[in-house]
Amino acid sequence: MNPGKAAGTNESAATASAAHLVCGGCGLLCDDLAGTSDTGCAAADAWFGIPAQPAATTVDGQPATIDAAVNAAAHRLTNARRVLLTGLTSVPLEPVRLACQIAERLTAAVDAGTADTALLTGPTITRVGEVTAAFEELRDRADLVIFWGCNPAASHPRFLERFVQPARPTGGRQTMSVGPQQVVPPTAHHSHLSLAADQIVPAARLLQASLEGHGITPTDDPLAATISKLNAAVDAASCIGIVTSTRDDPSGLTAWSLGQLVRALAHRKPAFQIPLGAGTAGGGGNAAGFAASCSWRYGAPGAIAAADRDGSEFQPAEADAVRLISRGEVDCVLAVGRLAPPIEAALTAAAVAPSVIRITDITPEPAAVTTVMLGTASLARATTGTMLREDGRLMQLQPLMAPKKPTVDQLLIKLKQAIDAIRPTASTLQPAAFSGESS
Ligand code: SF4
Repeated sequence: MNPGKAAGTNESAATASAAHLVCGGCGLLCDDLAGTSDTGCAAADAWFGIPAQPAATTVDGQPATIDAAVNAAAHRLTNARRVLLTGLTSVPLEPVRLACQIAERLTAAVDAGTADTALLTGPTITRVGEVTAAFEELRDRADLVIFWGCNPAASHPRFLERFVQPARPTGGRQTMSVGPQQVVPPTAHHSHLSLAADQIVPAARLLQASLEGHGITPTDDPLAATISKLNAAVDAASCIGIVTSTRDDPSGLTAWSLGQLVRALAHRKPAFQIPLGAGTAGGGGNAAGFAASCSWRYGAPGAIAAADRDGSEFQPAEADAVRLISRGEVDCVLAVGRLAPPIEAALTAAAVAPSVIRITDITPEPAAVTTVMLGTASLARATTGTMLREDGRLMQLQPLMAPKKPTVDQLLIKLKQAIDAIRPTASTLQPAAFSGESS
């Protein structure tokens, strides 16, 4: 996916409303951009960029009417042995709900392809809970911010600019980075505690042990020095924010250990964790919204083996989108919105190519497997609805122009109706007329 800028677009209409726009380029859902191009954030420019290849409506590569494409999609979905519903991170909550209704009709697997459902340990929050806060709370309250084994500048381009660099209303702020990544150059206000990646979890466990007075002394010198500096910084701070990232946590143990550490810290003084999600790797800004929707419906944020509102099986690292595609366990994929890069890669590399139904606004590059394409109005410029920021704040999308194609909601409704026509549900069937005892 590499949207470029093309001539002949209604850019003036876009900039006229730019003061109200929300960027869906990553889970920060920034609402303070002055325009839709040359924003200073490359991911935002890509999100708003006019695609070189807008998605058309096709069946097996041939142009088709919307009705014909919807019917073809419905037949392929209902004839499939096993369906995967994926994508959904670049569309608002409303189409996510519609797509989940379709998944339930098909008993499809559901997963957005984000990192935490691909972990054997699954999302940390389901096991230990997290003491978290809004991004603005970090900005306004934390006088010590620790980037623990992560680099927000790489995953969430404007996180530092918006929530760490602004002055606190009541004083200054110290920042520290713990781990291999320095995040920003050292200054009087930022120090880097260099640790190898495999020392990140031990450092969190040792600091917690130290805070709880367990008297465990690190034998390793760099680790002992790190714990000593962290203890001093924690003692001097009045409110502490610890920033973590699922992207840089391949085992899930960092988030688990930091969840425990922050709870121990919070018993001593105000402290919270800012668990950053997929960011720019999520395929869109509503990865948190998809995870929340999925949790409400199925009890888990993804890796759902078979969608069922009465009880679904959560299979992290087993029913995640990439594994299902790579192992050839699904023969039809319903992909809604722009996909996260790992899913596109899995579709391209799949030994047994599934049938792929795409409902989206951009033709992927390079052209990956697609059997039915339903082109939608621009997800960035002509879509209304609600997305969930990674810290849980609801954000209302402000369309910059009227849609020139069907919206993703409209296409999902048509698709669900077509599926219902092929495979009627109990609620769509008419009760048989009573015809007497003898019949
Ligand atoms: S940081 Fe993310 S949400 Fe903010 S402008 Fe950049 S891509 Fe958009």
